[in-house]
This record gives sequence, structure tokens and C-alpha cells, in this order.
Amino acid sequence: MKNVVVITTGGTISTKRGPQFSGAVPLLKGDDFLAMLPRGEYNVSFHDFTNLPSSHITPAMSLDLAQRISGMLLGDDVDGVVVTHGTDTLEESTYLCDLVIESPKPVVFTGSMRIATDVGYDGVSNLMGAIRAAAAEQCRDLGVLVAFNDRLFAASAVQKVHSQAVDAFDAPGIGPLGMLTGNTVRVHTRPAQRQFIPCSRLAERVDLIVATQGADDRQLRASIDTNAAGIVIAAFGGGRVPPWWLPTIQEALTRRIPVVVTTRCLQGICYDEYGYVGEYHDLKRLGVLFAQNLSPVKARIKLMVALGSNPHPQELREWFAE
Ligand code: ASP
Repeated sequence: MKNVVVITTGGTISTKRGPQFSGAVPLLKGDDFLAMLPRGEYNVSFHDFTNLPSSHITPAMSLDLAQRISGMLLGDDVDGVVVTHGTDTLEESTYLCDLVIESPKPVVFTGSMRIATDVGYDGVSNLMGAIRAAAAEQCRDLGVLVAFNDRLFAASAVQKVHSQAVDAFDAPGIGPLGMLTGNTVRVHTRPAQRQFIPCSRLAERVDLIVATQGADDRQLRASIDTNAAGIVIAAFGGGRVPPWWLPTIQEALTRRIPVVVTTRCLQGICYDEYGYVGEYHDLKRLGVLFAQNLSPVKARIKLMVALGSNPHPQELREWFAE
């Protein structure tokens, strides 16, 4: 029988409503989940990491989690790891783990959209699907995965695309890597490119600034003036910013604050197309890095990880190579 460790961190999957609380709060722990699972298919053991809504989780906690997972995966008695996690920031924790865990064994995150005391609680089916994926040979060497509503997604591409629906996750422009149907795990495609960045510490002061129509440069200025370690810009379309941002971006780079540009669009990459001011080529000439098809929140996580490993500028450039 395959051995799977389930690490619990909280989120709606752990949440119950009760008359003593003003709203639903994370309460379920490993033993409670164990009692809900069918017996005899897998050896499942639980490890309670924390019990928080994911809006209370920090990248530093995710790095700690990743280091614990890496340690567990070294053991011959562990075939795969599942993490139960809140859905709100799941796309960030999973991608951080994807970047820093170097193991062929499956690591599968899951959660739920419905509270454990609600009719139609999706926590048990999502957890069972994640356990099946974590035990599956075909899920080895795929990087960190997310199992949600019978679908499997790559951590580098998954996004929460709905704030309420049970099919809250998707990988826009890419789709799922596989399906969890009944007891079977089917993987029909592999993640395009996996990156491993060795990292034992994060550069946490990385700011994400979204380009919005007519916005002035105050947010950029604030990042520079408060010594941000790095800045991620979620730019318009294929990598464009208001032209009056260019001198401030230049100033950040002169002060050795790396600037990474990604698109604020759900799909697509940054690319050179137009000849007007503030376009991709202006940004490139200044020396920004491009995060290609990473979502803005994932680009921020990558820059935190990359800068935390104290890279040579050339190495940083290679990690963000186009
Ligand atoms: N509030 C929850 C969280 O911890 C939402 C969820 O898990 O669905 O992210």
C-alpha cells in the first residue's frame, strides 16, 4: 500500500460553522479528516502544520512548509505528500513550493470551497482526489500539483478564478494537466517548463504594482523610497506601462532594485509589438526582467525566492530568461 502524508494548514476545508462563532472558522485537524476518509486504500498519516485561513499565511510560512515537505520526501516510507490549504492564497503557496522542492515524488495541494458543516462539502472528495494523485506513479516528476474539483493543475499555472464556485480553480490558457475520475488518475499533459531555485531564505519586501489607466507613479515611488527588495509590475497587455512611469522605473533599476514585468491579462505573454513610448521595448531597454506567462502574484513569489537566494545579476537574468 502506498504511504501518503497529509499536511493540514487550515482554510475552508478545515472550517466549521458553530453558534459560538461569528462566522465559520478553521477547526478540523488531521484526526478529524482521517475519520472522514475511506479505509484500506492507502496508508495515510496526518501532520498538522497550522490551522489558519490562507489570508493569514505568509511566504515565509510557505518556505518553512516547503522545507518540511522536502525533508519528508527524503524518507523511503513516504510516496507522496498532500497539503490541505485555504483557497485564497493557494496559488502562491503552491508555486513557492514548486520552485524550491526538488523531488520526483508527487506533492499535491487541495482545499475546498464549501465549509465542512455545509451540505455538499467538497473537502472529502478533493482530499481523496489529492491523496490518489499523491500516490500515483503518473504524477511523479510533474512538480507541485493542485487537485481540485476532479481536475489536476500545475502549480506554475493554477489560479483561483472564481470567489465562490466549487470549480474555483483553472489554469487560464493552459487547462488542467489531468483528471481525477472515480478511483483513476489520468495525466494527459505535462507542465511546460519547471524551474528549481535553491533557496533557504526569501527576499520578502517585493512589491506588486498593477498598471491602471492614468495612474501616476506614487506606488513605484513608495517602493523605491521604502527600499523594496524588488518590484513586480502587472503591465497592460503585452507589457506596456503609462509612459510617465519610465523615469521612475529607471530610478528603481539605477538603485539596483530589480523590476520584473508581467501582464495583467489572464492569458498570454509580454512581447514586442508597437513603436510608442512605454512599450515593451522601452522597458527592455531600461533593463527590466520579464516573467512571461506567470500571473502577477506568482511573479512576485518567484522574485522573492530568486532574490532570497542572493543571485549574481546574470543568474537572476537567466531565471527570468524569455
Ligand atoms: N477563507 C478561505 C482561505 O483560507 C477560503 C478557502 O479556503 O476557500 O483561503
